[in-house]
Amino acid sequence: MNRAVFFDRDDTLIRNVPYLKNDELIEIPQGLEVYLSRLKQVGFLLFIISNQSGVARGLLTPEDVEKVNKKLLEKLGGTFFEKIYLSYEGPSQELNWDRKPQPTMIWKAATEYDVDFEKSFFVGDRLADILCGRNGGCRTIFIDQGKKDLESYISRRLSTFIVNSVFEAIEKILSTLTLKE
Ligand SMILES: [Mg+2]
Repeated sequence: MNRAVFFDRDDTLIRNVPYLKNDELIEIPQGLEVYLSRLKQVGFLLFIISNQSGVARGLLTPEDVEKVNKKLLEKLGGTFFEKIYLSYEGPSQELNWDRKPQPTMIWKAATEYDVDFEKSFFVGDRLADILCGRNGGCRTIFIDQGKKDLESYISRRLSTFIVNSVFEAIEKILSTLTLKE
């Protein structure tokens, strides 16, 4: 079975621009590709798990989201991610089947890529990310932006690890590996 890292997209891999459709506004932290390579080198499969409710809200089309994701992958300049799983549902929809915090998207990845959740991590900046990872059965890493709101408080309490950047998150994942193997 495979170990995996599931990444949230907005404010985890790229700077959050609400309902992003202009692919010129994509901002990737400098050097991210080096860190992603390190994860790949030790055998992690990488995935992006993203709620894009702008589609349900009528603010984005699936094509807008896919265009941004394509550009994101191009800018990273490597084939780091096995697959991007997207939910276009809105929070107020009666049936939120895919949308984080449901673990549906990571369970899809598990069935398609034979993922072992006990060896896997979810990295994100929102409570929905932490809950999605927990609900799916993997360890979670909260990128803490220092907000004083209730959501951040709960995220800190429920996550396995708390870090300040995606780089620290990746260092943390790599450090757990050296301790165990
Ligand atoms: Mg986010």
